[in-house]
Amino acid sequence: MSDSILPSSRLQSNPTFDSRMVDWEDLATGRVVRIEMLKVYCANCGKPWAYVPSTQVFEFYLCRGCFEKYGGIVGTYAMPDDDFARKVAAEMDAAFGRQLTAQELAHLMERGELPKALGILDRESPYRAAARSEDL
Ligand SMILES: [Zn+2]
Repeated sequence: MSDSILPSSRLQSNPTFDSRMVDWEDLATGRVVRIEMLKVYCANCGKPWAYVPSTQVFEFYLCRGCFEKYGGIVGTYAMPDDDFARKVAAEMDAAFGRQLTAQELAHLMERGELPKALGILDRESPYRAAARSEDL
């Protein structure tokens, strides 16, 4: 999906309004970097959603209410954050019988030992897409 078709979910006139500086730990290296996080909003109704790294190139977000009211966008795939988190939690329970820490997950990923279902969720993760865009 081309980013240029969808509107940005950042504020257009003052994107740094209500931004936050946070210490962000790279789980693979343990290195902590200080980054600015920008607030993003539902592209339709303006409901605040979350913060994204200022280095992220593009983000488009619809709140659950607007998504349920207007439906999905042709050519895109959508999964609400809480549905995604439930799938990840269920796969961790199935594979390990408990919830793993972020550090444990990072070590499994480093060694290429992530169970197949969790690997698929990792590839689909909007958070991975955000991290990839930071590498540009
Ligand atoms: Zn909305």
